[in-house]
Amino acid sequence: MDELLDKVVSLTVSSNRDRVLNTINLIASENLMSPLALRVYISDFMHRYAEGKPFKRYYQGTYYIDELESMTNELFNKLFNSRYSDVRPVSGTIANASVFRVLAEPGDKAAIAPVQAGAHVSHTKFGTLGALGIIQVELPYDPESMNVDVDKAVKVIEEEEPRFLVLGGSVYLFPHPVEDLSNAIKSVGGKLVYDAAHVLGLIAGGAWPNPLERGADAVTGSTHKTFPGPQGGVVLFNDKDLYKRVSKTIFPWFISNHHLHRIPATAVTLLEMMEYGRDYANAIVSNARRLAEELASRGFKVLGEHLGYTRSHQVLIDVRSQGGGAKAAKLLEEAGIILNKNLLPWDPPSAVQDPSGLRIGVQEVTRIGMKGGEMEVIAELMHKVLIKREDPKKVRREVEEFRKEYRRIHYCFDPRSRQVETLLDLLG
Ligand SMILES: *Cc1c(COP(=O)(O)O)cnc(C)c1O
Repeated sequence: MDELLDKVVSLTVSSNRDRVLNTINLIASENLMSPLALRVYISDFMHRYAEGKPFKRYYQGTYYIDELESMTNELFNKLFNSRYSDVRPVSGTIANASVFRVLAEPGDKAAIAPVQAGAHVSHTKFGTLGALGIIQVELPYDPESMNVDVDKAVKVIEEEEPRFLVLGGSVYLFPHPVEDLSNAIKSVGGKLVYDAAHVLGLIAGGAWPNPLERGADAVTGSTHKTFPGPQGGVVLFNDKDLYKRVSKTIFPWFISNHHLHRIPATAVTLLEMMEYGRDYANAIVSNARRLAEELASRGFKVLGEHLGYTRSHQVLIDVRSQGGGAKAAKLLEEAGIILNKNLLPWDPPSAVQDPSGLRIGVQEVTRIGMKGGEMEVIAELMHKVLIKREDPKKVRREVEEFRKEYRRIHYCFDPRSRQVETLLDLLG
């Protein structure tokens, strides 16, 4: 018993904390919360229920969370220039499910961005779309622009008349063509859903086009990727009717309670993004481009060179000459550089266990204060492991030494600016 208990505590607290503090995390879908967001995250709200919408709950005792939740929705509207928002989906996938379910009945069609242009599994027949019985129509891909082929996509939309179109993705370097396709989907009576899970923080900081201002009817997102809040989801709208229909679907179809402790932490993150979001988002995009250039200059095959490599937080590299994605990701992990193997546009889906590429995201290293010079160091460390074939264990010592300088989270309020007692303090 004691041994198991010790194990639970040490794996959770010290082992994993040390892992994070001693490695360079380049997973494109993760981030670090600010110290102040973290302080308000650990609260009694994690024990409570508040089914329904603020001020119209099915439970008593919810008056404070009512206020916090409506404030959080208003902050979303302010930051993203939307009219309505709902922060109750507990994840990006649940946000997608709620919107998709409203826009189509089982047996209807939905058009999605090509998987090569980064569509998420929840957009596909293998994920949420399939679970809802909605038929997937994949739009054509243009290898030259690494994006949806707009002319061919318009034809497919006119022929197939899908109920909705999903743009936005998990692996993409350049914005999807929202403006170009919104008229096409509207001309067949459909809606445009933009899944901003990855780029929500970039949109917040003005470094990525805001899809709501370019014809999207609903924007879904995760609140923990480039947007550096607690894990959760959100949906943003301008159309009142659509907002009301989706809200009625989120509860009671896809959630009952919505994990209340993430609401104040999301609010703190929104306030921090209002203050620091521009600098943060610009730093991410310039770091991504710099890392791409530094990798290319060291002999890596970086995708999108003819388009300036990237406009997002991501960089994609083809590591077939370094032994393939699976091997490269594993070697880098041994050296303390954490990222994931990824399918590249030419890979068949069956290559998922050993794809051609690596996906790199720089939002978390940006958050701990890294800039262009540090991108050069990271490129050099990767070069040592994958091209010069130095011993990963030896490189790992360099990684740990380098990582020591970056202990503080940037682009956020000073945690000492507020006296926040956490639940732990209150319990002694
Ligand atoms: C990560 C991701 C999701 C899923 O978000 P969760 O919050 O993990 O459920 C949905 N869509 C896209 C494009 C994503 O990248």
